[in-house]
Amino acid sequence: TSGTTKKQKLAPVRVFLRIRPTVEQDGPSAITYLTPKEICVKGHSKTYSFDQIFDEKTAQNKVYKTVVGSIIADVVKGYNCTVFAYGQTGTGKTYTILGGDTLNSKDEKFNKDEDTDAGIILRASKHLYDELDKIDSSVQYTVTVSFMEIYNEEIRDLLSDKEILPLRIYEDKTKCVRVKNLQEVTVLNIWDILNLLKKGCEKRQMASTLMNNRSSRSHTVFTINVSTIQTISVAGNISNIICGKLSLIDLAGSENIAKSGSKDQRAREASNINQSLLTLGRVIKALVENSSHVPYRESKLTRILQDSLGGKTKTAIIATISPGMSSLDETLNTLDYAFSAR
Ligand code: ADP
Ligand code: MG
Repeated sequence: TSGTTKKQKLAPVRVFLRIRPTVEQDGPSAITYLTPKEICVKGHSKTYSFDQIFDEKTAQNKVYKTVVGSIIADVVKGYNCTVFAYGQTGTGKTYTILGGDTLNSKDEKFNKDEDTDAGIILRASKHLYDELDKIDSSVQYTVTVSFMEIYNEEIRDLLSDKEILPLRIYEDKTKCVRVKNLQEVTVLNIWDILNLLKKGCEKRQMASTLMNNRSSRSHTVFTINVSTIQTISVAGNISNIICGKLSLIDLAGSENIAKSGSKDQRAREASNINQSLLTLGRVIKALVENSSHVPYRESKLTRILQDSLGGKTKTAIIATISPGMSSLDETLNTLDYAFSAR
């Protein structure tokens, strides 16, 4: 019980910072590392602190273990857990959540090599099956996956073969917010999940090619649902069902927040992105402050995530930034957003 001074309660949201490797356009470095949990930015006096900071050399596996590794067991126990990647386009959100080129290479590679560029989705899937293999054989389990994109406040299913009307949100009998007709595909192993991930990414890529750079303006939500059924009585008529899920979210580029001045289509998109990223920030703030009103209803993203934010849930944000002076303004915006979520 020795003294942590700042926070009495268990923080409901863990916030991490990841800095991507330098590229030529970045210019000189803008980051000063103070401790593994603190940085400051050149020319600014404010110190930003996080649960952990991942520098440019940090491997995918380390990020996975630190942020997600400890919550897989909670998902099996019935927690709804969520990991967001938040940041400017080009800073590594997709790399962190979906992964690098592994998706396009041979399947076996991932199984053998811990240092591949596989992202959180595949690592979590593998870990989940390892965890499920360990549970008692009297417990049966089902794993399903869904994969959707929210673009311009419209929800689209990345796993559906049919095209491609926006899906509606509704409340089911238990007051649970659901997406109508969203595919939830039953999966048996990590290779099933890998195939669905590839399929969804292709669809996302296609949509993005048709509409210039759409992927930087949409949120991508990959959800792994786990239910376990334990038969309690010998007669088999009493059972205990536990449902948990892990939502892994590649958010729209945060630079869109600043650009709502532009015209027409772009303006509408920007203000929708604005709305959802700002609402997400407000929802998280309300949860952190234990406030009585949480504005879930103000964006599609937070409505969908209502049962995953607050209550029996665990949330982590990975804020991604560029190390360079040329992105300084966006970097400060991201740091402020992420810092205020703690
Ligand atoms: P975002 O999704 O935020 O727009 P990406 O994930 O597409 O950014 O990253 C932009 C580029 O930088 C990609 O080519 C990606 O592979 C690379 N990249 C990002 N983060 C890292 C990292 N930590 N290590 C290696 N490459 C990275
Ligand atoms: Mg991306």
